[in-house]
Amino acid sequence: MIMLSDNEVKSPVYDLLAQIGYPLRQNVLLSRYCSAQIGGPAEYLIEANTANQLEKIIQGIWINHVPYTLLGRGSNVLISDVGLSGIVVINRAKGVGRIRVCETAEEIQIWAESGVNLGTLTRVAAEKGLSGLEWATGIPGTVGGAVVNNAGAFNGDIAHSLIMADILQQNPEPDQGISLRQTWTSSDFHYSYRNSRIKNESEQVVILRACLRVEKSKPEFIKAKMAQINQKRKATQPPGASMGSIFKNPPGDYAGRLIEAAGLKGLQVGGAQISLQHANFMVNQGNACAQDFWDLISVVQKEVLNQFDVQLELEIQPLGTFKEVQKVNQSD
Ligand SMILES: Cc1cc2nc3c(=O)[nH]c(=O)nc-3n(C[C@H](O)[C@H](O)[C@H](O)COP(=O)(O)OP(=O)(O)OC[C@H]3O[C@@H](n4cnc5c(N)ncnc54)[C@H](O)[C@@H]3O)c2cc1C
Repeated sequence: MIMLSDNEVKSPVYDLLAQIGYPLRQNVLLSRYCSAQIGGPAEYLIEANTANQLEKIIQGIWINHVPYTLLGRGSNVLISDVGLSGIVVINRAKGVGRIRVCETAEEIQIWAESGVNLGTLTRVAAEKGLSGLEWATGIPGTVGGAVVNNAGAFNGDIAHSLIMADILQQNPEPDQGISLRQTWTSSDFHYSYRNSRIKNESEQVVILRACLRVEKSKPEFIKAKMAQINQKRKATQPPGASMGSIFKNPPGDYAGRLIEAAGLKGLQVGGAQISLQHANFMVNQGNACAQDFWDLISVVQKEVLNQFDVQLELEIQPLGTFKEVQKVNQSD
């Protein structure tokens, strides 16, 4: 932990610390903050436990021009072995008490802070007899991560479930205030398949809370639908440490089908293996490093391009720096 003392050398991080008043941890391994369980250290790490805390921390970061990375559950990121410089903010603004149901004349809305896990949200909705979010059961991310990525599954996605979200945006004219607090509707996010206008990072936007569309149903019907979805996941997706689907499905096809047809199922580089159960998943066999995943990704992209003339696009987001692909022996 670092705390501010009077004779500390001044740096943007220490100025930030003084401003937000929370302690920062230094040199914290990120492997325990992401679902693939890999990745080097964060130079500094701070956890936000409420949406208000998240807002304060991000504003402090912007005011002091400190480099930062925001993570939810880290289930859609590949963090490099050298780690991340600056501050990693872990969004833990979550909890059942942080989920609110509002009934208006037109619709029923469910509000959740952005650090709420989708698993918690879908369970709470089911208990309350609120249907519409069943598709999200089993996705191991936060509401915020889902809003950014347009997460989706089983014929549902955020683009269709989201009514609006409270966001914090870095002000392009900082002399008029460092940040703008706004409410964006689903159409403001310019959603497309696993994409939104903020995923390309040209805009600094943080999701604070999201409001999702639900309707009344019987808890037992909702739970049965969720159980069915969970069963399908179990039957088709591998257990273990992974990032879910590595590549987006190309138009009219499936990344997993192409990878399998290229004869790459089961291919292993170091401790990273293409799943035998689902070829668009790569699983950490327990001893993988991020570079193993990076090299495996490169092999897959190259082979699929060579064999089928299809350029597979990443669904996951690489963070930090990676080495140029090392020579990989495909019989590894
Ligand atoms: C086993 C497994 C199964 C999966 N199945 C699916 C699936 O069926 N469908 C699907 O779409 N995805 C799936 N995923 C991927 C992943 O869970 C989702 O994309 C999820 O929405 C990511 O949320 P997160 O909190 O983990 O985001 P992170 O991985 O922590 O972050 C992803 C990106 O979002 C940004 N971000 C996170 N929170 C915020 C915020 N509050 N404000 C602004 N930016 C933010 C981060 O900076 C980063 O750029 C799966 C992953 C795994 C491991």
